[in-house]
Amino acid sequence: MIVCKFGGKTTTNIDAIKNIYTLKKQNNDRVVFVFSAIGKENDNDEKITDILINCAQQFKRGKDTKKYFDKIETKFQKLQKNTNVNINLQTEISKIKNNFFKNKNKNYLISRGEYLTSLIMSKYLDLPFVPAEKIIFFNKKTLNTKKTYKKLNYYLKKYKKIVIPGFYGIDQNKKIKLFSRGGGDITGAIIAKVLKFSIYENWTDIDGIKQINPKLLNTAKQIKQISYSDVFLMTSYDTKVIHKDCAKYLQDTNTLIKVNSIFDIYACPTIICNRQYKDISFIIYKKIENKYIVVVKTQNFAKLLQKYQKYVIHKNNNLIKLVFSPKKFLSNILNIYENYDG
Ligand code: ASP
Repeated sequence: MIVCKFGGKTTTNIDAIKNIYTLKKQNNDRVVFVFSAIGKENDNDEKITDILINCAQQFKRGKDTKKYFDKIETKFQKLQKNTNVNINLQTEISKIKNNFFKNKNKNYLISRGEYLTSLIMSKYLDLPFVPAEKIIFFNKKTLNTKKTYKKLNYYLKKYKKIVIPGFYGIDQNKKIKLFSRGGGDITGAIIAKVLKFSIYENWTDIDGIKQINPKLLNTAKQIKQISYSDVFLMTSYDTKVIHKDCAKYLQDTNTLIKVNSIFDIYACPTIICNRQYKDISFIIYKKIENKYIVVVKTQNFAKLLQKYQKYVIHKNNNLIKLVFSPKKFLSNILNIYENYDG
């Protein structure tokens, strides 16, 4: 069985939306559909989650929130138009507004981005909608696996296929618990783990995990197969395609994660699994204060070592870690790496 999760960008574009429908029709094993809130349509646009966070902050300061709710309505109207789905949006948004003004719970408000996106997408896909507050349960800090399993099982038996909002669950006091940013991915990982699904498809706007952050190098090659531990390392640095906690949840399971672009659904995904691959290559970095910490994993770093030996702070098998300040070193390293790993 397959759980598929759709990132914020996938609901901003009509072709991507049609591809989601194709995916549903194409394979009956896809039984759980998880959605993030609508993302940015372009660089000048705002994510629904950001609008909701700003709205909650303004409300706390006693400021007028109308402008935010108007923006939210406009974004959802667009999704309705693109999906041809008819729900009474104004009633839904008024309900949310009234509940929020009453309960003043910012997590509740922020979670409504995924709630409404999933509600509309469930109508579009013609599948039952089950809100995450009925499925994803937490104890104080950790997942209540038993209860989550029971509920997931119940709804899947009842409906066969379901649509669930990502990014949140409910705690033992019946309060909404939000995950960290980008946490729609975590919902997919929880479902795959609890139900022991063989595949977790993570549909995004990028064709898989790249050897180098595409923002640094737009010709960076896709990684075909990678282990959970390498993904954990990469996502602790600048790899943002998938949330770091996915590797944490799934590292001791047999679930494969397939990371793929919704704009090219027949392309090869990056496959993450519980196996080490010897010939894996990547460069990742993070900047802490004025220093760049760079990790290079490759079998061919002789030349790199020759030139940058004095910046190496750690080395083992085919992995080295360097620390330096001048930014140009980063592009020099990328150049050397490119020439070697081709
Ligand atoms: N909507 C949330 C965010 O913007 C979660 C997600 O996108 O997965 O962080």
